[in-house]
Amino acid sequence: MNALIVVDLQYDFMPNGSLAVNGGNEIADVLNPIRDIFDLVIFTQEWHPTNHCSFQDIGGPWPVHCVQDSEGAKIDLRLIRENDIIVQKGVNQDVDSYSAFWDNERKHKTNLDEILKQHNIDTVYICGIATDYCVKFTALDACKLGYKTHLLVDACRGVNIDINDVKKAIVDMSTKGVNLSHSSSFSKISLSKLKQLCCLYDETWGEHPESTLEGESVYNFIIEETEKTGNLTLNSFLFI
Ligand SMILES: [Zn+2]
Repeated sequence: MNALIVVDLQYDFMPNGSLAVNGGNEIADVLNPIRDIFDLVIFTQEWHPTNHCSFQDIGGPWPVHCVQDSEGAKIDLRLIRENDIIVQKGVNQDVDSYSAFWDNERKHKTNLDEILKQHNIDTVYICGIATDYCVKFTALDACKLGYKTHLLVDACRGVNIDINDVKKAIVDMSTKGVNLSHSSSFSKISLSKLKQLCCLYDETWGEHPESTLEGESVYNFIIEETEKTGNLTLNSFLFI
């Protein structure tokens, strides 16, 4: 089973946000056509108290951002849906948390690992903001925890304080076991997802998958599902 982990896709990290990252607003458009292909979708969310140690006015490196309950802390509404899982991080005022698994001092673990294990996830696709900080540390921790880890390179945007930071981060992840992937590799829906979709409609799928593919009911379901989401093309289903 696989999971898409979207890191910190929050308004403060988008153009006009308090800690704007170039192109942060472009990520939803990359992910919307493919998000339904994954077995599970998880969003991480920076959720800082007002006096968080990472803020410049109390000696930290960053401007005030993603304060709990603020507009800037909201996740991009074009991508998130009502029942999506959210894992909050950076909630402790005394320590920052780049990785979505651990805080930077590795004292407190979030519930991300537990959620992945509960859903039998063995493969994760990581993307979001920022390539050279939270995405990188989340991907490296996923590797360390034994998940087969992919970086969806075209669905990430970085801070790039130094001009090569993003490039270095990608090389670093790659040399430490993260596979580099691209959203276009998901133009075909996975067989497991297709089975899941068809199971909703036709209970015979489990035993005779080939025969149900020819069934008119399944075909109609696929068309309906495609039109409803506006994301998956019929070709996605036909070329598995
Ligand atoms: Zn932060």
